[in-house]
Amino acid sequence: MRALTLALLLTLLAATSAASADLLDPPPTATPVPGITLVGHSVDGNPIVAQQLGDGPMPILLVGGIHGGWELNTVLLMNEIAAFFAAHPEDIAPNVSLYVIPAANPDGLRHGRKAEGRFNANGVDLNRNWGCNWSAEAFWRSQRVDAGAEPFSEPETQALRDFITALQPVAVLWYHSAAAGVFAGHCTGEDHGSAGLADVVGRAAGYTTGQPFSAYPVSGTAADWVDGLGTPSMDVELESAQAVEWERNHAGIMALQCHFARLGAGDALEAFVARACREGEQDG
Ligand SMILES: [Zn+2]
Repeated sequence: MRALTLALLLTLLAATSAASADLLDPPPTATPVPGITLVGHSVDGNPIVAQQLGDGPMPILLVGGIHGGWELNTVLLMNEIAAFFAAHPEDIAPNVSLYVIPAANPDGLRHGRKAEGRFNANGVDLNRNWGCNWSAEAFWRSQRVDAGAEPFSEPETQALRDFITALQPVAVLWYHSAAAGVFAGHCTGEDHGSAGLADVVGRAAGYTTGQPFSAYPVSGTAADWVDGLGTPSMDVELESAQAVEWERNHAGIMALQCHFARLGAGDALEAFVARACREGEQDG
């Protein structure tokens, strides 16, 4: 199966929504694209889409570009991941499905790699707008940023929240750049498995783990909110702001899949683990 590029996806979805808007009574299934789900729309009406790869019962959600064009390499990495697993379905664990959202902040993406590309079209930092430890006073480095009028004030975070609630993934990874580390989500005092899974991904990918993000105070983040659902979540911070760091992130995703493959039983899973998983990746 030929992999769809993000540009093609966005074109298709933009055409679909434009066509729908022109019709008083649009057909409910206008121009369906197999494996593609419309998660929602940005402030400016740009689509946020998810691509499903594999059909196992344990969904793993991978999200790029919540910080838009400023972290463009995370969008490019998600496109490469989606294209790779579309071309190599045998590398998806039989009990897992991968859901890839390449661009969670399409308005910011349109600015390219500029500081304003970090925010949505309302100027809100979408990774300060979630409903765990939300604060109106929010920061990026030493600079104040707009966290929104209240938690989930933005259409992007509403759409992502509703998609995650409906999907009930077993893990959610949010890709950022460029703090070079894997940082576990942490909403309350309870351990929801985020730190353990962050360690699995970080060790395989060669990013540091086990440390809280301490460069500056953060509030209302997506990973913390997902952790608060009882679902393991983490921020994967690439080392560079330009490279996609493909090899190490492919290794991280394989290790994550192997973690879940080892939880199951049966010939297909054993064959997958024997072929695709490395010894010594087991946690604990
Ligand atoms: Zn970021």
